[in-house]
Amino acid sequence: MNDARTTEIATSLAEVRERIRVASVAARRTEPTLIVVTKTWPADDVRRLASLGVTDVGENRDQEAAPKFDATVDLALRWHMVGQLQRNKANHVARYADVVHALDRAEIVTALDRGAGLAQRRIVGLIQVSLDGAEGRGGAAPESVAAIADQIANSEHLDLGGVMAVAPLGADPGHAFAELVRISDRLRSDYPGASMISAGMSEDLEQAVAAGATHLRVGSSILGMRSPAR
Ligand SMILES: *Cc1c(COP(=O)(O)O)cnc(C)c1O
Repeated sequence: MNDARTTEIATSLAEVRERIRVASVAARRTEPTLIVVTKTWPADDVRRLASLGVTDVGENRDQEAAPKFDATVDLALRWHMVGQLQRNKANHVARYADVVHALDRAEIVTALDRGAGLAQRRIVGLIQVSLDGAEGRGGAAPESVAAIADQIANSEHLDLGGVMAVAPLGADPGHAFAELVRISDRLRSDYPGASMISAGMSEDLEQAVAAGATHLRVGSSILGMRSPAR
């Protein structure tokens, strides 16, 4: 695909990659993996992104992700489910998700493990941590992380990947991501392989890189503003 939309995406993707490069140099860190969040945008945009070298895409709702995955199965992409997982959608999501970012309670871990078993696939699970001490944008309380980690690590079909967070609204994202990195440090003392830190979106990717994120989830800076905001 090589049309005006491809050119538009190529331009904004190059800008975001440059932001990541500059932030990584400043922080003296390895560049994190860029996950382009494609929610609300069509399967053709996924195709355009793949043609521009994107390897990882993210979605937040099964109803939207499943048909997009089916329309692009010919592409070698890693699919990330970055949104809250509903228990009754776990079997569906297990069919195509390579990484599920928002595991935050036992019943969801159990459901995803069962789904992965039925799909005969292994899935990487990240623990979503709530950094604002409230439910709001989802996530487990920091003190629950160790128990969820044990559950994922002992699951038959899941691999414990690490942690994920969304910066709390109205708070300093740098501060929040530093807290996430401390939680990741504690987790890795028990599970050295669980090194993924999924943090940083369009507005705060620089702070996430500075704190030590390994994976960034960027949507609107690359694909444009979503309407209505989601
Ligand atoms: C939509 C979404 C993103 C991407 O947000 P942008 O601000 O568009 O970059 C990242 N993470 C999650 C969990 C999301 O739902």
